[in-house]
Amino acid sequence: MAEFDRRTFLLGSLAAAAAACRSGKSSAPTTTSPSTAASTTAAAANATATTTNVPTTAAAPVTTTMAPSASAPTFGFTENPFLLGVASGDPATDSVILWTKLDGAQLNQENVKPDPKLLWEVAPDKDFASIAASGTATAARDDIFTVHVDAKGLKPGTRYWYRFRVDTFTSAVGRTQTLPAAPTAPTSFRFGVGSCQDFQNGYYAAHRDIAASDLDAMVWLGDYIYEYGPDPSGVRQHTGGTCMTLADYQARYALYRSDANLQAAHASCPWLVIWDDHEVENNYAGDHSENEATSGVTPEAFAARRHLAYLAWWQFMPTRLPRPEPTGDYKIYRDLQVGSLAHIFLLDGRQYRSDQACGKPDDANFTFEQPCAEWSDETRTMLGATQERWLLDGIAASKTTWNIIGNQVVMGDARLNGAVLNYDQWDGYPAARQRLLSGISASGKRNVVVVTGDIHLAAVTDLVDGETIVASELVGTSISSGAILPEAIEGAVSAFPHLRYINARQRGWMLNEVSASSWKATYRVVSDVTKADSAIVSDAVFTIAPDKPGAIRV
Ligand code: FE
Ligand code: CA
Repeated sequence: MAEFDRRTFLLGSLAAAAAACRSGKSSAPTTTSPSTAASTTAAAANATATTTNVPTTAAAPVTTTMAPSASAPTFGFTENPFLLGVASGDPATDSVILWTKLDGAQLNQENVKPDPKLLWEVAPDKDFASIAASGTATAARDDIFTVHVDAKGLKPGTRYWYRFRVDTFTSAVGRTQTLPAAPTAPTSFRFGVGSCQDFQNGYYAAHRDIAASDLDAMVWLGDYIYEYGPDPSGVRQHTGGTCMTLADYQARYALYRSDANLQAAHASCPWLVIWDDHEVENNYAGDHSENEATSGVTPEAFAARRHLAYLAWWQFMPTRLPRPEPTGDYKIYRDLQVGSLAHIFLLDGRQYRSDQACGKPDDANFTFEQPCAEWSDETRTMLGATQERWLLDGIAASKTTWNIIGNQVVMGDARLNGAVLNYDQWDGYPAARQRLLSGISASGKRNVVVVTGDIHLAAVTDLVDGETIVASELVGTSISSGAILPEAIEGAVSAFPHLRYINARQRGWMLNEVSASSWKATYRVVSDVTKADSAIVSDAVFTIAPDKPGAIRV
């Protein structure tokens, strides 16, 4: 695959360049493969980590056997159609979105009546002794029997359990919760950050840990699926080829959602979901396909594929967002407020961005040359002018203790001797980054924390405006997606001046425990991503003060 070849080449160059830097050479070789990337064993990597007891089986939700509290609609189902679990998301102070999907061959059989209606129920207790809200929702064939319910009339800052029923069948039970209403401040807000779950690269032990962590919410930063065809060397395989059609993308989501640990993570708390590139295509930018210069794929043709990918994404995500329209933008950037404790801004760094500069990354000829003139063009954008303004205005107006930005690609400066190693990151959009960071600085807010996905490594960086640290960046690792030559990456980037932590070797997720006085971030890592029952350990803990950006390792 083009991406693999290019990244191998890039990272080989990167490692060689880092070695050159350390030995004082000024010209970086661009073709040397790193032969010094000695493998670190998992045991050695974990030698200093804290082991936590974990269950050896997935904490999958169980099907309730409670007596029904109301009659379920009858549609002729003879087998359990709730095969892909339940999910909730985008909580408000008085409502939350509930999701499920009917699945299985019986949906195409005559005994099942068309457009089945489901009974949904929300209860303040997990036994459904009383019902707080209920109703019916149609699982429409046009949306492959997915359901998005806006469960209204709920109390703020309250935990609930929910389930769906049809005929004699009841779904798994999910737990969810509403947001506290300002000016109430919860004593703490515990949320996970995850991204990048390539099904073929590993199992979802990280999701088992997420499900067991009693979170208030889970923030998902993208790469929920990967669009690639099967990789025979993977620990498990994609079905079908590269995703191009609506059915391709839908089947890929269904495959991922068949994983019991992922189902358990969704059922454990509400999710706040945004996308990155692989929900459509690696490294796409706006309506520009990754390799349009060589493939000849026009923006019109790519926009059509992108719409199908967005539609499948919406069908499978527990989101409050409307169903995507066939043409035009699809606005997913949004914000929500956790009482007076935190404001969460969720970005879309894909749909409005300028194409990557200097012909990269859709150019296999990576070098360590200085960037071309296009790179510093002031008009280039990562978020688009409207979203950029919305974000800075929102931060400036926010009165919460924390401002949290859910961001796709690495924002911190990761250049090497002025060379841009990854034109897909904010490094490739220097004017846009400077506008954002100087805007944060000008807002006077010292409480901005950026959480970032995409890059398959765990890192902590300072975000600077000139010499001043204006925000903290916590880069989560990946749930399962692999890093190529991780030891070489670690060796190379350890030279970056604003880097406080790097772990490229291990997969996992980030646990954030936020209060009025502090932010505690714990990097949870998977000992062996090739095993669904792998142990999970805490690799590093950082704290941030709400009035002083810059994470401190504890
Ligand atoms: Fe990824
Ligand atoms: Ca990505």
